[in-house]
Amino acid sequence: PEQVAAQLAQIARAEELPVRTPEGSYPIHIQQGLLTRAGWALRTAGIPQGSQVVVVSNPTVAPLYADLLQAALQAAGYQPGLALIPDGEAHKTLGTLAYLYEQFLDLRLDRSGTVLALGGGVTGDVAGFAAASFMRGVRFAQMPTTLLSMVDASVGGKTGVDLPRGKNLVGAFKQPACVLIDPLCLQTLPAEELRSGMAEVIKHAALNDPGLFAELEQHAGDLTLWWQDSAPQWLARAVKVKIDVVEADPFEQGQRALLNLGHTTGHALEQLSGFALRHGEGVSIGMLAAARIAARLGLADEALADRLRACLQGWGLPVTCPPLPAADILAAMRHDKKKQSGALRWALPLAIGRAEIHSSVPDTTILEALVELGA
Ligand code: NAD
Ligand code: MG
Repeated sequence: PEQVAAQLAQIARAEELPVRTPEGSYPIHIQQGLLTRAGWALRTAGIPQGSQVVVVSNPTVAPLYADLLQAALQAAGYQPGLALIPDGEAHKTLGTLAYLYEQFLDLRLDRSGTVLALGGGVTGDVAGFAAASFMRGVRFAQMPTTLLSMVDASVGGKTGVDLPRGKNLVGAFKQPACVLIDPLCLQTLPAEELRSGMAEVIKHAALNDPGLFAELEQHAGDLTLWWQDSAPQWLARAVKVKIDVVEADPFEQGQRALLNLGHTTGHALEQLSGFALRHGEGVSIGMLAAARIAARLGLADEALADRLRACLQGWGLPVTCPPLPAADILAAMRHDKKKQSGALRWALPLAIGRAEIHSSVPDTTILEALVELGA
């Protein structure tokens, strides 16, 4: 069977990216149809055969993929189990975490077992924190099924839940044993979720991969890209940017703030819209705000913002700010927990493929940039 699996791997083009963390290295496997070979991939990652693997998913994703995944686990000699959490950010809570622990106990999960997250970023964050904390920590693996979780949330080891007073206020760093990405899962993802995830893909390209950015410009708007034969290569390039940043700053002490490009303004707009604006939409407008600020500070030329705008627009993302008072947007930014010692930290693009962190952007510059975008 190993030989057959290896041959299949050659037929479907596979990408394997190592991620180096303070606790050692783990692989990200990207391959079409990987869902049906997930058990073999876990064995390759050293998860003991015969051990228990509890799949954590939700009522949207489980009916699509949990049976296939559990069968694949069984076929490779694992004891699969299934635990469900309710779908949606509203359920990324301590209550859901407690509910998940109960299911782990019912399934008799112990420290020899593994928690395998199957779903988007919410599932990954909750399952990861549950794995980090249940019985002081059990093994964790991830099978991200949204574009955002494939290129962003599943990399970097951050896990956690929200509190009523804010997002991601409780959590832990928990590195997975492996991350398995099957791009074919993206075929069932609603187009608006795919488009929202594109904002992070474009962000990664804008941060550190000008070649990828140029290709995204060329293929603008073509969401089928994500399940064509070349999807694993596209995903690998998008995820590599995040890998490089988190490897250099695993505990978010410095350079990792670059990944916040577009998020300072984006979070504020998401909040002010009562979350009617999707995360990717907020990030899209936020990246343009950052580009406008960079232009105003003389750090980037005007053409950078124009190019970014055209690309985002081409992928169906918003490029103008909702008509809110700029001062309200600035006030909302200040409430963001990512602020440090009172000063907002801005990831500013200098060119396509290059960005820098600045923590002393004058308020007037921020306000002017927002007004330029329609605030
Ligand atoms: P999500 O997990 O809510 O998924 C979006 C929707 O798509 C959900 O309804 C989900 O059930 C559904 N879905 C998932 N996969 C599907 C598929 N293949 N087919 C059909 N439907 C599918 O949202 P998301 O955008 O994946 O993740 C957002 C979350 O990720 C936020 O909570 C955010 O804080 C977190 N996040 C974490 C990190 C990190 O480093 N840990 C980074 C970025 C974001
Ligand atoms: Mg984000």
